[in-house]
Amino acid sequence: MPAARVSWTEVDKYADRPNSILVIEDEECLANGLMFQLQRLEYEVALRRDGRSGLEAALEQAHDLIVLDLILPEMDGLTLCRKLREAKITTPIIITSARGSELDRIVGLEMGADDYLGKPFDLAELEARIRAVWRRSQSMSRQILIYGPLHLDCEAHELILNRNRARLTTREYELMSLFMRHPGRVFSREGLLERIWGSSNQNYLRNVDALIGRLRRKLKQIGGDGEWLESMYAIGFRLRRL
Ligand code: CA
Repeated sequence: MPAARVSWTEVDKYADRPNSILVIEDEECLANGLMFQLQRLEYEVALRRDGRSGLEAALEQAHDLIVLDLILPEMDGLTLCRKLREAKITTPIIITSARGSELDRIVGLEMGADDYLGKPFDLAELEARIRAVWRRSQSMSRQILIYGPLHLDCEAHELILNRNRARLTTREYELMSLFMRHPGRVFSREGLLERIWGSSNQNYLRNVDALIGRLRRKLKQIGGDGEWLESMYAIGFRLRRL
């Protein structure tokens, strides 16, 4: 399943809830039920049925939240949780378990999970937890601007694609932030010069081209496509709809 592809406005619309959820659950009936129900609530859901492929999915793609079963084939949920946190993946995790013991809950939270839900649970309860955990993680985490597969860390000034990061200079950051806030919108070179340099001196228009060039290289560097920053002949530049 592709990474979450949402525009900035959709992110705004759904800011109180996650967009994409990775469910790692081996019990077929429950897994299918969860997938169906969460999709009905308009979440984008990816499903993995064992711990190892679950870990791979969580490492490969950015999901907003993970619903993780504890007892899984290939790798148990606690180990998976620990490995994710060791890899500095901070995606919120809700552990679900039929064992329902206090010890599981404590160990789960120690391993870096954000919440624990005993089985059986009903969907309304799970969704309430999903929203609560999400809100909590949002208030603690850095402000990240998301457009399609691209993430822009507004504090570290890093452009992120999957797990690849590129550090941006101040001007590169300002330009990328502008494009990501207005995907698809065309900005003229003069307009960009004015916004980024605060100048209307036409002699500096080449600086705009050079800056675009550097950003394209950084997009490639993190596994993206430089052409995502599209030149519109004689008009300007825009971030292509992803
Ligand atoms: Ca299980």
